[in-house]
Amino acid sequence: MDPWLIGVPAAAALAGATTAFGAVHPRSQMFGATICRTASPRQLAITFDDGPNPAITPKLLDLLDRFQAQATFFVIGRFVRECGGLTKEIAERGHLLANHTELHANLFWLTPDAVRDELQRCQDALRDATGSDARFFRPPYGFRNPWVVSTARDLGMQTVLWTLLPGDWRAHSNEWLAERMRPIAKHVERASGRRTGDVICLHDGAHRALGGDRSHTLSALEYWLPRWRDLGLKFVTISQAVKLPAG
Ligand SMILES: [Zn+2]
Repeated sequence: MDPWLIGVPAAAALAGATTAFGAVHPRSQMFGATICRTASPRQLAITFDDGPNPAITPKLLDLLDRFQAQATFFVIGRFVRECGGLTKEIAERGHLLANHTELHANLFWLTPDAVRDELQRCQDALRDATGSDARFFRPPYGFRNPWVVSTARDLGMQTVLWTLLPGDWRAHSNEWLAERMRPIAKHVERASGRRTGDVICLHDGAHRALGGDRSHTLSALEYWLPRWRDLGLKFVTISQAVKLPAG
């Protein structure tokens, strides 16, 4: 057999795998520059996706208040329209609101115009609820294609991924989830030589409908927030995370 004929499927498979890596891997920069880390190992950016959620977000805001923790909320436009008051409250209590599209579409398959529409409609919902546009955006499932990051940039937003995705949407117990969040503390204990800090991606909502149960997320945070604080971590929003710390 002609060796070229053997090579072609292998090359195609490799190209496909490379594209999948670029589209999915949170730290891949293949489809445009993204923010994945904070600027200091002493800074932790806690982020929540798929809200606002009247069943969980108010309790979460109270929990974050107890530890003076500021967080970033990547909200879904259609939920913002339904929960304008709660959206406004997130911002008024010192947190950063960010864009997680209008309908939580998988952007990988969408045309440039459809991607722009998903992002712009969420921006419109945020402006209606709070009077301001988001400056940061996270693609649903972390999926990007060659025009997702550039479209976000055209709309004034930087794209944000994460360093740790504990999978809280599939948590079956508080202990399971708390264990999956342990790498944050391990990184602090072994911080020598590290120059950046973690961005953790959790969920205060469920993208299919309002009212999703994320009580394991609340409990695991209740366990970790005092421990993270005692380890000397400072809780920052993504906006604070990308600024170099003083000194
Ligand atoms: Zn999401």
